[in-house]
Amino acid sequence: MKFEQYRISEELKRSLEDLGFKKPTDIQYKAIPSILKGDDVLAIAQTGTGKTAAFAIPVLQLMQQRHRSKRTRGEVKCLVMVPTRELALQIAEVFKQLGKYTPVDILGLVGGVDAEAQIRKLDKGVDILIATPGRMFDLRAQGHLDLSHVQTLILDEADHMLDLGFIRDIRDVIKHIPSNHQTLFFSATIDEHIKDLAYSVVRNPIRIQISPEDPVSKNISHAVAYVGMDDKRFFLERLVREFPDKKILVFVRTKVRAERVVAAMERVGIQSLAMHGGKEQGDRLAVMTEFRKGENKLLITTDVNARGIDIPNVDYVVNYDLPEDPESYVHRIGRTGRGTQKGQAISFCSPEEKPLLDAIHEYIGKPVKEMTISKNEYEATIQFSEEVPNENVQLLIEQHEAAMKAAKKKKKKK
Ligand code: ADP
Ligand code: MG
Repeated sequence: MKFEQYRISEELKRSLEDLGFKKPTDIQYKAIPSILKGDDVLAIAQTGTGKTAAFAIPVLQLMQQRHRSKRTRGEVKCLVMVPTRELALQIAEVFKQLGKYTPVDILGLVGGVDAEAQIRKLDKGVDILIATPGRMFDLRAQGHLDLSHVQTLILDEADHMLDLGFIRDIRDVIKHIPSNHQTLFFSATIDEHIKDLAYSVVRNPIRIQISPEDPVSKNISHAVAYVGMDDKRFFLERLVREFPDKKILVFVRTKVRAERVVAAMERVGIQSLAMHGGKEQGDRLAVMTEFRKGENKLLITTDVNARGIDIPNVDYVVNYDLPEDPESYVHRIGRTGRGTQKGQAISFCSPEEKPLLDAIHEYIGKPVKEMTISKNEYEATIQFSEEVPNENVQLLIEQHEAAMKAAKKKKKKK
C-alpha cells in the first residue's frame, strides 16, 4: 500500500511526496493504523527502519484534526520525550518537514541554549513538543509549560527513557498529564524488565515487533578485531588512510578519550571532530553539522550519539572502545546502514575488553564475526603509522602478543 492510499490529510501526502517517501516501511505500515485509532503502542523495530515517521505521520494527522489556533498559555497536546538534545532537534525537524503544509505547531525544547525564544513560543501553546527532560522540567517549574492538556505521550528510545536515569522523570510527567492519554513507545531494543515497566504505565498496549530474533539491522555487516588497547590508534589511522572518502563515526568510552583520539589523529596529520557531553551546545551542533555535510568525515564521539541520530551516508562505525551496555552495541552500529543503505561496523577489542564482547555475544544471540589479523598484518599496521619510529615497532608487537597470550590463558582457565 502506498501513502497515497492512506486516510491522511492531503497536506501530509504532499510533504511525504516532497520527502520522496512513497511506501511505508514495515514498522510504519504496522504502527500507523493503531496510532490513528488511539491505541497505546509498544513498537520495536531495528535501527534505521523509519520509526520516527511511524509515529510522526499519524500524530500529525491527529494533531491536524484537533488543531486550534487559540490555546491557553503553555498548552501542549503531544509530548515526545527523548534522551539527548541532538535527537530532540532531529525529531522536531522530521515533524516540521512532514507537517510543513499543516497548521500544526511544533517545538523542539532542549537545554544549553537561550530559553527566551522557547518561552515566547510556549506562551502561545504548541501542538507537539519534542523535549529532553532537563529544560522541560525547568520551564514547567517556572510556569511556562502546562502538561494538563497532553493527549499523546511518546517515548522514543523507550527502553532508555524507562531505565534508571530517566524513569523518575517519566513517572513525574505521567502524574501531570490527563489519565486517558495515549502512550507510544518506540525503540530498537527492549528487555523483559523494561517491557514490564512499559506495560505498567499504560492501559492496553498493542505490541508491534518487527524481526525480533536479530536486533542488528540486516543492512549492517559487523565484525570484531582483536587489537591491543595502545595499538587502537594505529588501526584507526590505517582505516582512515585506506578509505579517505568514507564517512567514519568512531565511538569511545569517555569524553577524555574522545579528545585523546582526536589528538592522536592530529599527530599523524588526520583532522577529526570530537563530540561529547562536555562540549558547549553551540559546538555540539556545529560539529554535527560539519560531519553531516561531510566537511569533515571523521567524528570521534561518546554514547551521546549512540541512539537515534540519523546521519546519511555514514559508511563505517568503529567501536574504538567496546560499549559498557550490550544494547549500546546495537544502537552504535545502527548509525550506519540506515533506510535502504548498507553499512559496515568494526569493533576493536583489547584483551581486557573480552568480557564486554562476551556480553554483546550473549545479547545479540550469536558471536560477532571475527576479523583475523595475521602477525604480519598487525606489524604492518603499526609500521604504516606515521607516528611510530621503526625501532619501536618490534617492542609494540611483543607487548601485544604477550597481552593476547595472557588473555587466551585466562579464557582457558574459565
Ligand atoms: P529509526 O528511528 O527506526 O532508527 P529513522 O526514523 O531515523 O529510523 O529513519 C531512518 C531513515 O529512513 C531516515 O533517513 C528517513 O528519512 C528514512 N525513511 C523513513 N521512512 C521512510 C519511507 N517510508 N521511505 C523512504 N525513506 C524513509
Ligand atoms: Mg529513531
